[in-house]
Amino acid sequence: QRKQQPTPETLVAQILEGNKTALSRAITLVESTQAAHQEKANSIIQSCLPKANRSIRIGITGVPGVGKSTFIEAFGKYLTSIGKKVAVLAIDPSSSISHGSILGDKTRMEELVKDENAYIRPSASGNTLGGVARKTRETIILCEAAGFDTIIIETVGVGQSETAVHSMVDFFLLLKIAGAGDELQGIKRGIMEMADAIIINKADGDNVAKAKLAKTEFNRALHLFPTKKSQWTPTVSTCSAYEKKGIEDVWETITKYINLVKDNGYFEENRRNQNQFWMMETINEQLKLDFYNHKQVMALLEQNKKALQNNEISPFAAALNLLEAYYSK
Ligand code: GDP
Repeated sequence: QRKQQPTPETLVAQILEGNKTALSRAITLVESTQAAHQEKANSIIQSCLPKANRSIRIGITGVPGVGKSTFIEAFGKYLTSIGKKVAVLAIDPSSSISHGSILGDKTRMEELVKDENAYIRPSASGNTLGGVARKTRETIILCEAAGFDTIIIETVGVGQSETAVHSMVDFFLLLKIAGAGDELQGIKRGIMEMADAIIINKADGDNVAKAKLAKTEFNRALHLFPTKKSQWTPTVSTCSAYEKKGIEDVWETITKYINLVKDNGYFEENRRNQNQFWMMETINEQLKLDFYNHKQVMALLEQNKKALQNNEISPFAAALNLLEAYYSK
């Protein structure tokens, strides 16, 4: 006989006690597409909300192979060693497309997984980045309610997912390695502009000199960017996740940043703006889904595309046809 599922009230009570099993169950409800699950998830999130919001949220990005999981393992272990409770979440844009994931399924972070004061949750899957991002936002709330005071959100440095992560964190960290040209690392200017810190990883062995050179170059490049709204000047440092060197410095930098932005008001302002952004994003996403799943829209879409191809109709008239079909219900 199947065990009865705990009620949302029970789950909330357990989450507030820091129970990781209850936390995982609630996250599974958040990730479910079933209406009944979503309803439960919403009520859990609503109850957890007053206990959320008290963490530092850190985004980490970098191309595959740069050392994200090795770094997060070392960084996470350091944080728990100084008494932090760390949750690691991931946004993996590849899983929705290929159903395999770039971030990989995990013999990653072997030590951190076993750490009582750490919680690691692999990326939610979903059909759209917007959908996955929304679930991650909700998961952050649950983790915070469960007492996790440092939330790390990891993503791969390709596509739009960095922007999504950037808009849900307080501090954005870009992991790089020396010696690979920027083209190779697929780093767009926009991502460097988002970074509050650039960490050059694998600064060990023969790589140390190259890493130092890269540090100088990145520092020079960063000076060309305009001052941030946070008034923070992005930093560049080197580290070896492998040898666990330079890890403490990263935390020191983040602490400095948090002190600055809590003093000057940017911390709160940024979080308020992020909340607004995600409200609008969620509405946009839902409206789009609704529109494209509308029976008549679906029927008319191909027809209008064809007419457009044959120059029989203007793009605006075609759009209007579809919108009219949608609104006539
Ligand atoms: P991810 O794809 O960004 O998560 O990268 P991984 O953490 O899986 O690391 C990719 C490879 O780089 C692995 O073979 C790691 O052992 C290696 N690596 C990670 N960090 C370091 C480091 O600080 N120094 C050196 N030498 N190798 C590293």
